[in-house]
Amino acid sequence: MVNINEEYINDYIRELVPENIDFLVKMEEYAEENHVPIVQPEVAQLMKVILRMKKPKRILEIGTAIGYSALLMAETLKGDCSITTIERREDMVELAQDFISRSPYEDKIEIIRGDALEVLYQLDEKYDLIFMDAAKGQYIEFFNRSMDLLNPGGIIIADNVLFRGMVATDELVIRRKITIVKRLRRFLSYINEVEGFVSATIPIGDGVALIYREES
Ligand code: SAH
Ligand code: MG
Repeated sequence: MVNINEEYINDYIRELVPENIDFLVKMEEYAEENHVPIVQPEVAQLMKVILRMKKPKRILEIGTAIGYSALLMAETLKGDCSITTIERREDMVELAQDFISRSPYEDKIEIIRGDALEVLYQLDEKYDLIFMDAAKGQYIEFFNRSMDLLNPGGIIIADNVLFRGMVATDELVIRRKITIVKRLRRFLSYINEVEGFVSATIPIGDGVALIYREES
C-alpha cells in the first residue's frame, strides 16, 4: 500500500491508534499476508469517530473484500446497526462470509454478490451512511445512485480518492492509471459543487472524501 503522506506522519498517527479487538487484528494479518487492500488504520479511526457521532442505523458498503470494514463498523456500533455490503468477486464473498459468521455480528451484515453498478439500482431502501470503497473509476456513477439512497443528514465516506497522490499532481501519474485519475478528479470536483451536499477531501490513508447530505 502506497502512502500519500510522509512516512513519519503516518507512523506517528498509527502509533496513536488503539489496537482493535482480536478478530479484527486476525483479519488485519490476513489482509497483510494476502495483499487485500483493507481500510488503513488512520482512516478506520476517522470512521469510528463518525460512526460514534452519527450512530447510523442502516449502512451500505460498496466493496466488501474480506469483510474487514463491515465488521469494523459493526463492532464500533456494537451491532446496533444493519449493514448491507456489495462485492462482485465470488472468492471475496466466501471469505467475507466466513469471517462474518465467526464474528458476533453474523445477523447484522448482509453481503450482496454482484456489480455495484447493478446492485445499487436494485436497492430501494434508504441508508444513513454509505461507505464507498470499490472501483475508483466508477465513483461518480456510484455517487449518482448513492445520492438517492442516502437519507437527508446522512454521510458518504469515499476511500482512496487521492489514489497514491496521483489525483493531486500529474507528476505522480503513471500512464495506465490516467483514466482512473481523471475520473477521480471529476468525482472530487463534482462532490464539492453538487447542490444539497457539503464535502471535505482529507489527506489521510490514500485520501478520504466525506460527503454530507444536508437535512433540507
Ligand atoms: N472495504 C474493504 C476493502 C474493499 S477493497 C475493507 O476496507 O475492508 C475493494 C473491493 O471492491 C474488492 O474486493 C473488489 O472486488 C470490490 N469491487 C470493486 N469494484 C466493484 C464493483 N463495481 N462492484 C462490486 N464490488 C466491487
Ligand atoms: Mg480502500
